[in-house]
Amino acid sequence: MPADCLQGQDEALAAFAGTPPLADARSAFPYQRPPIHGGEIAALAHLEQYLARGLLHSYKRTRNGLMGLDYSAKWSPWLATGALSARQALAKLRACEAAPGASDGSYWLWFELLWRDYFRFLHLQHGRTLYRAQGLGPVRTTPHDSARFAAWCAGQTGQPLVDAGMRELAATGYLSNRLRQITASYLIHDLQCDWRAGAAWFEHQLLDYDVYSNQGNWLYIAGRGTDPRGGRRFDPVQQARAYDPQGAYQDLWSRP
Ligand SMILES: Cc1cc2nc3c(=O)[nH]c(=O)nc-3n(C[C@H](O)[C@H](O)[C@H](O)COP(=O)(O)OP(=O)(O)OC[C@H]3O[C@@H](n4cnc5c(N)ncnc54)[C@H](O)[C@@H]3O)c2cc1C
Repeated sequence: MPADCLQGQDEALAAFAGTPPLADARSAFPYQRPPIHGGEIAALAHLEQYLARGLLHSYKRTRNGLMGLDYSAKWSPWLATGALSARQALAKLRACEAAPGASDGSYWLWFELLWRDYFRFLHLQHGRTLYRAQGLGPVRTTPHDSARFAAWCAGQTGQPLVDAGMRELAATGYLSNRLRQITASYLIHDLQCDWRAGAAWFEHQLLDYDVYSNQGNWLYIAGRGTDPRGGRRFDPVQQARAYDPQGAYQDLWSRP
């Protein structure tokens, strides 16, 4: 990746030089708690308890949540490190469907695992092409502004939901899928910054960083992947109204 698209990253890193390590009680993935430590034993125990509590059946309803451990499966950090395989997760999910029966929730969880596979196959097919500024599309301008990028990294854009999300990411290394979409969209479509700089920042921050899912999702939002709709802009004001109507999430992350 050309260095010019990362302008602003050094300032952003410097701003976090004094940030405490990832141990924040507000975290949606508080990995410092023993039940969700790293490694295969904790991964399998987490998978078992998630399924045993029947949370997969409410997954479709809760998956756009922003706070707490249970709104989504939280398998990604273990999947990303190889402590858990998608096959293991799917086998357990299928076993659960066999007993009380399949549901909308179990279907949607399986469908999300398919996205993970999809982005792997995309890399197999296109390889390094996915890292060009234009992605899979025609050559076009890719604007970038290092000051706006640094403000985004630091959660200081002035957009409350975006800033809350960027603070959570910096403090904990985890961010809900909904907020990954909103913050990525804001960087690309509102702040007019290079999507590859955003992907690099997520790579630097995410506990569950996975090159295929990260690059694939950024390309998708930038409209430079396989989606014919040409990019996804999420209006942060509408998103806040829909997913944080009381402002509880924004309050929680109103400070770093
Ligand atoms: C800009 C952006 C960057 C992302 N970067 C990463 C990344 O580096 N690593 C990563 O694992 N996921 C990434 N995702 C996908 C998704 O946000 C996370 O997988 C999800 O939030 C992890 O939490 P969970 O395990 O509770 O997910 P759940 O909602 O419970 O989903 C279960 C599993 O399905 C898979 N999955 C769900 N949504 C997606 C998706 N959109 N794309 C691919 N797989 C998905 C994951 O393996 C996840 O663990 C990114 C999404 C966006 C929009």
